[in-house]
Amino acid sequence: MSTAIDVDIEVHDPATGELVGRVRPAGPQEVDDAVARARAARDGWARTPAAERAGLVRDAAGALRAVAEELARLNETETGRPYDDGLGGVLAAAGTLEQYAELGPVHRGRSLQGSWAATDLMIPEPRGVAAVITPWNDPVAVAAGLIGAALVTGNTVVHKPSERCPHLGRRFADLVASFLPDGVLEVVDGAGPTGAALSGHADVDLVAHVGSIAAGQAIRQAAAGTGAHVLLENGGNDPLVIDADVDPRWAAEQAALGSYANGGQVCVSVERIYCAAAIAEPFLDALAEEAARWVYRPSAAGEKALGPLVDRRHREHVHSHVAAAIADGATVHAGGFVPEGEGAFYPATVLSGLTPAMPILREETFGPVAGVRVVEDFAQGLAEAIDDPHGLAATVLTGNMGNAQQAWRELPVGSVKINAVFGGAPGGAAQPRGTSGTGFGYGPELLDEMTTTKVVHWSPLP
Ligand code: NAD
Repeated sequence: MSTAIDVDIEVHDPATGELVGRVRPAGPQEVDDAVARARAARDGWARTPAAERAGLVRDAAGALRAVAEELARLNETETGRPYDDGLGGVLAAAGTLEQYAELGPVHRGRSLQGSWAATDLMIPEPRGVAAVITPWNDPVAVAAGLIGAALVTGNTVVHKPSERCPHLGRRFADLVASFLPDGVLEVVDGAGPTGAALSGHADVDLVAHVGSIAAGQAIRQAAAGTGAHVLLENGGNDPLVIDADVDPRWAAEQAALGSYANGGQVCVSVERIYCAAAIAEPFLDALAEEAARWVYRPSAAGEKALGPLVDRRHREHVHSHVAAAIADGATVHAGGFVPEGEGAFYPATVLSGLTPAMPILREETFGPVAGVRVVEDFAQGLAEAIDDPHGLAATVLTGNMGNAQQAWRELPVGSVKINAVFGGAPGGAAQPRGTSGTGFGYGPELLDEMTTTKVVHWSPLP
């Protein structure tokens, strides 16, 4: 008897609309079975020496490199991500697995200074069964980070990849699982209902979710009923604040990169731009020129790839923000329309004349849209950037040291970038704030999230 809880999920190539395949979502019984297998494998995996666990994860990373091109093509077919970007994501995933394979065995506790005759220790232990629920926008790298960190610290995993790239998700997870003992990494297919069954399961000890705020909030509630530890890396509404003292052309390049990379479908995409009035005119002109360089199928020198959005449903969401802004008086400098033809393409868009109440400034758009609000000066831009419930990341462009200092001190977000929309050093990690989530979702500190610490006091017999 089938226990599936939904109709089959159909995946279409967002560039052509062609059917890629169908996937049967797992129902409660299949979720139950997967969790039971992961639970049965739990103690054996937790007792496997850390170096041995790490060796298996390292082997899986090597196998992933060997099939990176195949996975990048599948990524493009299922989500529209340009091949080169997807390849970068798969190679980053292999690098992340290798990094956690190095860090896992040296993730350690402490010894304490108790009495001479006693032994006092603090020991990190695996949490148990980790549910890893991931999105489509950087699917392999995001899954690899959470799964790698969970495995090297001795947890078993039930992974639910995004329903928008289920074939890619399963191909990746099956590959990693093929290096591990049975039950150590389980995969379930499905959409929200399958994720809900998994995140509310009584035998799951940790739920790690990367995705939308709405799903994160549902997961937080489901896990509250079971006591599972929750790690949420959710959506953002990242501001870019531009000071009057910077070169407007360079600021436009930064704004375009932040808004259009991966079609604006990056968790830390630039979502709202506050530009000082003194440079607003040349900035908007240069930004419209930049937008014209982001094209569907680049052919001329200097053009950059803008893939389709993940699907038409998402395109409707993106366009609803743009259309509402236009209806409310925004000015269109580039794009701003739904193109005719196959697929889910959307043009690089530049809007100005935005007001704080518009959805495009208040909510995550997650598309290739640069929405500009012209403000009197940096202080007004910073104040409006701060006045927002999200807390993922923010960028400021300024040559004024006082403004930069004030910005990084006051912005209530996990990551602040000064004078570069993307970038950072290896080993960095931050917790999102506000509605954007909770806990360290990457970096060495993710290993702390994946473990729980026990303190041991061992006295000699009297
Ligand atoms: P999504 O939340 O819709 O889906 C992500 C995963 O959650 C999928 O596997 C989905 O099936 C599952 N899910 C959906 N509803 C659920 C529920 N009620 N219970 C349990 N699981 C559920 O998000 P998406 O559209 O796939 O991804 C885009 C979002 O992810 C954007 O908001 C983006 O900002 C965010 N994101 C955040 C980060 C970060 O590090 N903060 C990274 C990448 C993406």
